[in-house]
Amino acid sequence: MSELNLILLGPPGAGKGTQAERLRDDFGLAHISTGDMLRAQVAEETELGRAAKRYMDAGDLVPDDVIIDMIIGRVGDPDAADGFLLDGFPRNEAQAEALAKALKERGRRLTGALLIDVPDDVVVQRLAGRRTCVKNASHIYHVDFDPPKHEGVCDQDGARLVQRDDDQEDTIRRRLEVYHSQTEPLIAYYDRAGLLRRFDGTRSADEVHDHIRATVATLRLEEEL
Ligand code: AMP
Repeated sequence: MSELNLILLGPPGAGKGTQAERLRDDFGLAHISTGDMLRAQVAEETELGRAAKRYMDAGDLVPDDVIIDMIIGRVGDPDAADGFLLDGFPRNEAQAEALAKALKERGRRLTGALLIDVPDDVVVQRLAGRRTCVKNASHIYHVDFDPPKHEGVCDQDGARLVQRDDDQEDTIRRRLEVYHSQTEPLIAYYDRAGLLRRFDGTRSADEVHDHIRATVATLRLEEEL
């Protein structure tokens, strides 16, 4: 069977996590989120988590060597053998090169890089109001646009909703700066490689999902030819 090996690109708050969850279910891909993996390490207070936390709280990137080892290992896990969806990686050109090299060594390659684009003012509005479930980080709400039925409580499992430490406004601004200076150049990088597909992330989550799903279905057909 042909693999679908996809990257999700876009600024923080573009909806990468939301779309990744849906695409995972549509296409049976492993959803690999570096942010979620790092937050799990922070919660477990591992050595890696302790080292990563100060970068994350500041809105800066965690050093490449830590991230690259973590991701290359994860992409090789059995559940990612038929395809994966990377959410939050790569975030700079060194990470993109490391990924390409590791895939090539294993006889694999990327199928597509999906860019979900949203302007900075929308990012700030979305992230400042974002609340996540303490029990499951993929249960995400917004105080204005997608409020839970009961304030501060997850509709799905009744757990408490919290604001991520890095969703404070000054940290959001720093994360955007980092995105523009380090991650945005990857758009041209994947465009040159013929892998880039663009989506308008200001549309509703359902519309963005419909567009991406249609594109990924086409990519899969092309892979099978
Ligand atoms: P995210 O949930 O993707 O917004 O990631 C939250 C934070 O984790 C980022 O602001 C970074 O500090 C760190 N992080 C996540 N992915 C990466 C990556 N690929 N490279 C470096 N740092 C990362």
